[in-house]
Amino acid sequence: MKQIIFATGNKDKLREIREIMADVDVEVLSMKEAGIVVDVVEDGTTFEENSLIKAKAIAEHTDAIVLADDSGLEIDYLDKAPGVYSARFMGEDTSYDIKNQALIDKLEGVPKEKRTARFVCAIGAVLPNKETLVVRETMEGYIGYQAEGENGFGYDPIFFLDEFGCSSAALSREQKNEISHRGKALRAMKDILLERGAL
Ligand code: IMP
Repeated sequence: MKQIIFATGNKDKLREIREIMADVDVEVLSMKEAGIVVDVVEDGTTFEENSLIKAKAIAEHTDAIVLADDSGLEIDYLDKAPGVYSARFMGEDTSYDIKNQALIDKLEGVPKEKRTARFVCAIGAVLPNKETLVVRETMEGYIGYQAEGENGFGYDPIFFLDEFGCSSAALSREQKNEISHRGKALRAMKDILLERGAL
């Protein structure tokens, strides 16, 4: 059976990609399961670059298909910050309660039409022949006036969706995966891999 190594240690991301690949005859392994240990410095300036930096570093250790993701939040009023620094914004150890409140404070007095934001996800791939591919998808919304919702993670409690009238932290996991940047990017990459006969 073909194998995909997905460059993550995150159990939720692994579960999501396994659900998306469930109808394809492929085994999805984490780096740990594949026995690959690499410390990658994500020093790219775009999500696409970072996803490929990760995928290429891992592909040096395997001939399986390697996929890697990079994601984050772009807030238009803040010149697309925190962007590729989303995980590092205010320090990796700072809680998201504090980070989320800081972002709401930065938008104090800003009207709704200027609070537009998006989650972005790039998925980079290295194929067994070392060809590289990358896709980028977004989920569009706006930054709310206060945090809400118990599901999700990270910036979900302050990211609001007009079509649902709530934050992405108030959606169920299934609802979010249907419309999320990561769900869309994973499905787009799956379609490309199938079209190319890589899966
Ligand atoms: P990474 O791609 O796993 O490194 O994620 C980058 C950072 O972007 C995360 O640590 C979160 O802060 C943020 N982020 C990415 N996707 C989401 C999401 O779906 N909800 C909330 N925060 C997210």
